[in-house]
Amino acid sequence: MDLEIKDKVALVTGGSKGIGLGIVRRLLAEGAKVANVNRSTAEGEALQEEYAAQGQDCFFIQGDLTDLNACEHAVDQARTKFGRIDMIVNNAGVNDGAGLEDGPEAFLLSLQRNLIHYYAMVHYALDDLKASRGCIINIGSKVCETGQGGTSGYAASKGGINGLTREWAIDLAPHGIRVNAVLPAETWTPLYEKCLAGADDPQAARAEIEAMIPLGRRFTTIEEMADMVVFLASPRSSHTTGQIVFVDGGYTHLDRRFTSTNETELNAK
Ligand code: NAP
Repeated sequence: MDLEIKDKVALVTGGSKGIGLGIVRRLLAEGAKVANVNRSTAEGEALQEEYAAQGQDCFFIQGDLTDLNACEHAVDQARTKFGRIDMIVNNAGVNDGAGLEDGPEAFLLSLQRNLIHYYAMVHYALDDLKASRGCIINIGSKVCETGQGGTSGYAASKGGINGLTREWAIDLAPHGIRVNAVLPAETWTPLYEKCLAGADDPQAARAEIEAMIPLGRRFTTIEEMADMVVFLASPRSSHTTGQIVFVDGGYTHLDRRFTSTNETELNAK
């Protein structure tokens, strides 16, 4: 299937690592041009060089998105470089564990890390998106529906992202701009691997999580996330808007029996 996004310009936040990196590589594989905003520089610059060598644009923009000036600057840079913006993929975020005991300042900082820049990027790119009749993809999290405990700021941010997805779908429908959200539950990334490495028995910790994922008893891959994001961002999804799509192997919504039993028990049922 030709996704018809060749030469479209995508502005991706947090595209140097993890899920964002999967999205950036899939967009580039489909012939899109990418602007990629991150705090760190090494990975982003290396990606830019890697694709430049193949004649493709993966334009790196350094910035900390908790700073609104950096958000505006990123949009300006992408516009200046490519002359247009066809899609925004809001992806950067961190489950920072700002809980009830941590107080309002920690909560506010968590919203800045996870929610405010989603709004800011779209706000600053609004005219570009209207001109291109573009689209927006917001990366959320299952935590908005399930809760997790000890992470009020992240949970509120991810709930807010779902709300904004529906709100903007209505705001922007008259301009032909589609807005959708893609939600992971347990996606295997280098950061996830690093987190589990801190457990007493990392293999056992991984197996415990995998046992709760009905489809395949395994983590979602970054490529599986990216395929959904890029499909939704493409004209092949031309009548899909305001949707909240879980790419999670059934983890969030299927019957608890299937998210808490192992394969052997499941096959015996
Ligand atoms: P990751 O591996 O940590 O990658 C996040 C990327 O975003 C990094 O490149 C990071 O850049 C960038 N970033 C984060 N905060 C930033 C900021 N303030 N300014 C600029 N860049 C920033 O994370 P991930 O696991 O792929 O997560 C991506 C998205 O999926 C997040 O929204 C997360 O909440 C969501 N999610 C992931 C999972 C999962 O299982 N992995 C589950 C649920 C939801 P630097 O390293 O340079 O800071």
